[in-house]
Amino acid sequence: MRTAIYPGSFDPVTLGHLNIIRRASTIFDKVVVCCMVNSAKMGWFTLDERVDMLKRVTSRYINVTIDSSDILIGEYAKRFEGAVLLKGLRALSDFESEFSMAHINKKINSTLDTVFLTSDEKYTFLSSSAVKELARYEADLTHFVPREILDDVREKSKKMR
Ligand code: ADP
Repeated sequence: MRTAIYPGSFDPVTLGHLNIIRRASTIFDKVVVCCMVNSAKMGWFTLDERVDMLKRVTSRYINVTIDSSDILIGEYAKRFEGAVLLKGLRALSDFESEFSMAHINKKINSTLDTVFLTSDEKYTFLSSSAVKELARYEADLTHFVPREILDDVREKSKKMR
């Protein structure tokens, strides 16, 4: 049984993230999307809200589960035997930070490998930060976030103004 752990902030989940999750669900037996508590990133959504949105947009994928964690991902991964970490790569800029993270995670957990899926070209320039910036200007978000969470993002952006 091959499990992929896909960690991130998902603040909020975008169509870029969902594209990675969908493709991973056809490659791996099980995909665990792990919503991380990241003190360095000041988010819009609470952990519970991010987990809830992820659950709604992935409900059709039977081998995908949503979890959350406030511990190092290298430690978290120890509870899944033989699991790999999954990361999405948008551009060279992602590569540089992900490359060093992969090495750090390997130091924390010597059996933990990181695998990368390249972003679909439609979503190469898409990030959660870009979604929040667009939402602030009330832009149409239908090409950027799953339709199930459009209202959540719109509502939150009103509160953040
Ligand atoms: P963001 O960088 O948008 O805030 P996260 O920190 O939640 O997103 O990222 C979680 C993972 O998803 C990382 O591996 C990141 O590289 C990947 N990812 C983010 N956006 C995309 C995208 N548009 N296409 C592919 N992978 C992505």
